[in-house]
Amino acid sequence: MNFDALESGEIAVLGIPFDDHSSFLKGAAKAPDRIREALHSESANLCTESVLDLSISGGWSDLGDLAELGGQEPFQQIETAVKRIVDRGARPLLLGGDHSVTYPIVRSIASTHQELTILHLDAHPDLYDELDGNRLSHACPFARIMEEGLANRLVQVGIRTMNLHQKEQAERFGVEVFTAGKWNPTVDLALEGPLYISVDMDVFDPAFAPGVAHLEPGGLSSRDVFGILQSIQARVVGADIVELNPDRDPSDITAMLAAKVLKELLSIMLDGTSGA
Ligand code: MN
Ligand code: MN
Repeated sequence: MNFDALESGEIAVLGIPFDDHSSFLKGAAKAPDRIREALHSESANLCTESVLDLSISGGWSDLGDLAELGGQEPFQQIETAVKRIVDRGARPLLLGGDHSVTYPIVRSIASTHQELTILHLDAHPDLYDELDGNRLSHACPFARIMEEGLANRLVQVGIRTMNLHQKEQAERFGVEVFTAGKWNPTVDLALEGPLYISVDMDVFDPAFAPGVAHLEPGGLSSRDVFGILQSIQARVVGADIVELNPDRDPSDITAMLAAKVLKELLSIMLDGTSGA
């Protein structure tokens, strides 16, 4: 894993095979490998919808996976690795893992980029103060991020599992919530940089993305999400794709979708408007 070769503005893809904080089903730790397999599958090319050929474009590299995350302090390992990318002036694009990893990732991003806006695409608000006694659960990362003041704005889209506790948390932290039921392509999210994007694969309707731990009907379409990503003009300083569960993924349909999200994220991050 060669952090020292990273150039300023370059996008560094890094896998985080970690699912210790999944509350219902393990399996997301297997996702980084499956996303890469899907990305390089001979069934598709490496061109984005903006007709950028990622096989020749440069500007991004794949550092592989963080190894041996089962140790004593996995969050510290994640935070340190992401910090090494950010300190090079490069921009991390992380492949989870369950959603708990977004907390240590954003800690590193926020250490360099103040006044961060986070676009969070998810069926779930992930704002629990704790779940099953675990404050680091994949149901809690955005509570930790907001109570530490790591982001100025948290904009959530696709939410369809809000409960009273998390509604209180959303109000307490000033979270801007766009529920799945209210979503339509004319909504203006008014996103400004520096912007971090977190894509939980269960934001998609299970018809599009069955390979997730928490099947939650009534979600966004693939086209909805690509429309959101492709409309972004703000400077993107990092992103993650989390919660793909290959154990639940017939025909690798969700892995292919995650790989497409990866391609479209690379496309908007490599676009001139989102340079470092
Ligand atoms: Mn989530
Ligand atoms: Mn979710």
